[in-house]
Amino acid sequence: MGKIRTVLGDIEPEKLGFTYPHEHLWCSPPATQLDRDLELTSYEASLYELKLFKSVGGGTVVDGSPLDYGRDGQKLKQLAIDSDVNVLGLTGFNKHVYYPDWVEIVPVEFLVERMVKDITVGMDGSDAKAGLIKGGSWYNLVHPLERKTTIALARASLETGAPIWLHTEAGTMGMEMLDIIEDEGVDLATVVVGHSDRNADPRYHRQMLERGAYIEFDGPGKVKYYPDSVRVDLVRNVIDHGFADKLVISGDMGRKSYLEGYGGGPGFRFIKQVFVPRLIEEGIPENVVHKIFHDNPAKWLGKF
Ligand SMILES: [Zn+2]
Repeated sequence: MGKIRTVLGDIEPEKLGFTYPHEHLWCSPPATQLDRDLELTSYEASLYELKLFKSVGGGTVVDGSPLDYGRDGQKLKQLAIDSDVNVLGLTGFNKHVYYPDWVEIVPVEFLVERMVKDITVGMDGSDAKAGLIKGGSWYNLVHPLERKTTIALARASLETGAPIWLHTEAGTMGMEMLDIIEDEGVDLATVVVGHSDRNADPRYHRQMLERGAYIEFDGPGKVKYYPDSVRVDLVRNVIDHGFADKLVISGDMGRKSYLEGYGGGPGFRFIKQVFVPRLIEEGIPENVVHKIFHDNPAKWLGKF
């Protein structure tokens, strides 16, 4: 296992602690997104949320905001310093509806260079380096521009070793995105397929796991989709089929209305204080829970 690239520098995997592999600390979606609940730009509110996470035993948060989503490397650095929580930032792109116009015009090599620079030099004019790369796809479709950025991210990963995290729309297109990355020669053990629980299909999950990828469940507490009882069963499906080493869990609480710091809920305390005890109560062994929140993120992220 290599080191993990945080915004304050590379750390040993043992330093990670209890980890959320996909949250949002600082972001401002492009103006085309009219739903401004997604904009998280209060430093005090985000710091408050991180401190709550720290207070319940949290160790590390990955900020899931890529370069087309109003990311700010300097802010992430300051949040890490002021909260004493490890923070990782990422490079790459979201789904195509958020792309700046230039993504269509520039050659793939330009996109690769841009990502490599974020990982090796720093993000947004700061010296905060990205610790992973994000790609994304659309609902039941990989848009041609998403294919382009995904090819670029695979090449940037090969060049730097950086791990990969994938946005899937409502959990669809995970297998197709893995195809693109695999075709570029990337080992799928460096890839996490995010939002996989949005498509609550146990067989689909096993298919991705059998290819060596990690899957992420990031819906705990989002009862608007379905109750957490379904997610507990999905976790059990993964474990019962021998893939306890390939599951990560986060909250993806990328809305003001999800975060206590912004006056919403359930916030960063929820998974640690409510969902984890529930998993244990419902028969998921404690050593497996430890894998999910400590060992698996460390193995996935420890590539430097
Ligand atoms: Zn997200």
